[in-house]
Amino acid sequence: MLNIPNIMDQVKKRNPGESEFHQAVEEVLESLAPVFEKHPEYLKAGILDRIIEPERQIMFRVPWLDDEGNVRINRGFRVQFNSAIGPYKGGLRFHPSVYLGIIKFLGFEQVFKNSLTGLPIGGGKGGSDFDPKGKSDDEIMKFCQSFMTELYRHIGADLDIPAGDIGVGAREIGFLFGQYKRIKNAYEAGVLTGKGLTYGGSLARKEATGFGLVYFVREILAANNDSYENKEIVISGAGNVAIYACQKAQEYGAKVIAMSDSKGYIYDKDGIKLDTVKQIKEVERKRISEYVKHHPNAEYHEGQRNIWTLKCDIALPCATQNDIDIESAKILINNGVKVVGEGANMPCTNEAVKTFLENNVLVAPAKAANAGGVATSALEMSQNSIRLSWSFEEVNNKLNDIMVNIFKAADSASKEYGMPGNYVAGANIAGFLKVAEAMMAQGLV
Ligand code: NDP
Repeated sequence: MLNIPNIMDQVKKRNPGESEFHQAVEEVLESLAPVFEKHPEYLKAGILDRIIEPERQIMFRVPWLDDEGNVRINRGFRVQFNSAIGPYKGGLRFHPSVYLGIIKFLGFEQVFKNSLTGLPIGGGKGGSDFDPKGKSDDEIMKFCQSFMTELYRHIGADLDIPAGDIGVGAREIGFLFGQYKRIKNAYEAGVLTGKGLTYGGSLARKEATGFGLVYFVREILAANNDSYENKEIVISGAGNVAIYACQKAQEYGAKVIAMSDSKGYIYDKDGIKLDTVKQIKEVERKRISEYVKHHPNAEYHEGQRNIWTLKCDIALPCATQNDIDIESAKILINNGVKVVGEGANMPCTNEAVKTFLENNVLVAPAKAANAGGVATSALEMSQNSIRLSWSFEEVNNKLNDIMVNIFKAADSASKEYGMPGNYVAGANIAGFLKVAEAMMAQGLV
């Protein structure tokens, strides 16, 4: 029997102050208890103790000069969590809230997510407390170059392959890749993913996380004899994941009625006009509040979290962690929500997830539902290795197949372990088993 409170006491002692990491570990432990009962050999081999301890954690100084010539110092991170099934793989997040606890929670979740994709990639994550908001392109470039000047020695196409995340998009990946190439004096395209199409990027990578989320939720709906037809959807965020989730959901005939950014949300009862959101967020890099200037019938409301007071059939939190707390969960349930699809990483608190499950709301957990991004990153690596580019359709079809397979894996694990319909537990178990088997085979390392 797993003594979860005891294990959590240890985790908190060994990782003080890292609340997001504690939360991520606790959520996984609760799902894995029946696995350890069935496989006591895993406990004996220390798989649990090892899987919650990163293989390597790197923290470094990132000095750079702003446009006024002032010296600025940020902190850089790379946590190489687990390489049992492949090289470390996971994004870089640039956001002022970043500290070791956030990078560790993301790296820990990445281990299970990457395993679920069925592709040979281990888990890692990195980033910085640098805030790209309000910085000039020059400042972004100087920061990225300084960041890579340290990071380059820890990464490689067969070692550790970073990608984007919050605050790291095509612009940042371009600057990071340029500096890596310059330092290494070698064109190692497979060292970063999310690259531009002119220098080794993959078609459909930009769309992959959002599209994949909508494919995964489609499978959940279908398993419950339902579809996107006549569904009203609320999406938090207006970044990479949110925008392409909105696009695919609209293609499937659903009506997306609201989106948000870190300041507030827009509500358009006639359906969000995505071209306007793309122009504001992808091109002008402005606030979502600008939307109502183009569409006066829509409403803008301050307060990002208030978006969850809207009535909807499907909620897709695609912004950041702990976006839906228990209060928001209760409001969503009272308003009749049927499915919650996690586009962001850990967007629901553990209490919110429990409340959804107790009230028969179907939950598509982040590790499974947003795995389309990293899966397509792995497809980008494959294309880099064989020095070929696949068409959009080819990549998108592979992404669709991967999401269907992830759903099947989570669904069948949930059934095998006596929790049918609990895709949260199913995804954790299916992701864990493959990593655990590989760790067993490789001995005590
Ligand atoms: P972006 O930076 O493109 O967009 C993030 C969006 O969320 C922005 O609209 C941002 O608002 C909003 N937001 C609201 N509150 C916060 C907050 N407290 N911190 C940061 N952002 C906030 O990021 P992505 O769309 O790439 O990522 C969104 C989520 O999806 C993250 O949890 C990420 O880890 C996860 N994810 C991303 C993948 C990818 O391929 N990009 C893959 C798998 C998971 P504003 O515009 O005001 O900044």
